[in-house]
Amino acid sequence: MSQTQAMSLDEIYQLAFDTLSRAGADEHNAKILASVLVNAERDGSHSHGLFRLPAYVAGLKSKKINGCARAEVTQVTSSFIRVDGNRGLAPTAHDAAIPALVKAAQKTGVAIAAIHRCFHMAALWPEVEAIAEYGLAGIACTNYMPSVAPAGANQAFFGTNPIAFAWPRSSKTPIVYDMATAAMALGDVQVAARDGKKVPPGTGLDNEGQPTTDPSAIAKGGVLLPFGGYKGSGMSMMVELLTAGLTGETFSDETKARDNADGGPPIGGQFLLAMSPEIIAIDDWQSHCDSFFERMSGLPGQGVRLPGERRHKNRRSTAKRQINSELLEKIHAL
Ligand code: NDP
Repeated sequence: MSQTQAMSLDEIYQLAFDTLSRAGADEHNAKILASVLVNAERDGSHSHGLFRLPAYVAGLKSKKINGCARAEVTQVTSSFIRVDGNRGLAPTAHDAAIPALVKAAQKTGVAIAAIHRCFHMAALWPEVEAIAEYGLAGIACTNYMPSVAPAGANQAFFGTNPIAFAWPRSSKTPIVYDMATAAMALGDVQVAARDGKKVPPGTGLDNEGQPTTDPSAIAKGGVLLPFGGYKGSGMSMMVELLTAGLTGETFSDETKARDNADGGPPIGGQFLLAMSPEIIAIDDWQSHCDSFFERMSGLPGQGVRLPGERRHKNRRSTAKRQINSELLEKIHAL
């Protein structure tokens, strides 16, 4: 069992902010990323909180990531926004893109943002939740570096390619689904390896292409598998097409060739979609959907839990968060 240290949310934020600032991020970028990291710890998204800080620092120190980036938003048509991330961190691009995306969707009913030249290594729920806060449904996806073998292959080709979806509710937190199309997110495999835990069968293959439940064998030289065989593989391919084919950015297998292998996130693209039920749906969409969720939650069986509920419950806790001590030592040494 790994050792942990209790930290308040303010302490986590300050640690992230100071570490990012020392690594070369300006106040604007350090503030935005530190908020994303502390919110991940607040919600119990451990694989995308402080755990990712050393990788961000590596990218900032090698100057691959522009720590002083200001994303450039271009309204190409009434429902399409192009965002140049200016080689900055994805949350900085979202900070600029989401207000413009929301404004367009509230006007036209549906809008997309195609982001290019940004570094994404965070969870995706922050961007779709931000869209849902305006009463819109949101979809987001991004690709990565080759780490997942398509169904039928034993070599990495797709990224872990997450997809997130949020649906707004009137008096409750939104429904938020946020998942890697890999059987397990790479961050979770790395956390399992660090904590000496096994991963479920079907998560990945070792460096000889053999199935393994050892997360270290997958993370070092092995390969992840898509969830659900060819079905997850198809969704992962869709993510590649939306985030690279559509935005003009690189596919995951092309991304590796231009990365400097500093351990930081790779530069790439992201696809965001916002839809307004207020404009698209017929009357009373909120109570229609509320009663759908009620019927779904009330189904017989072991109990249905709505996606997003776990994080939103964690969010309400005012207790200190437990942070892995080894990770803290690593961060202090950066
Ligand atoms: P999980 O498998 O942990 O969860 C996927 C979704 O399923 C979540 O929305 C979760 O809701 C929901 N869920 C989990 N268990 C249940 C259940 N029993 N009933 C109903 N819903 C459930 O996520 P992943 O491991 O696939 O991904 C983890 C994170 O990694 C994501 O945030 C993703 O964005 C991120 N990621 C980022 C990448 C990047 O390049 N930036 C690459 C790959 C992944 P809840 O949150 O409430 O638990």
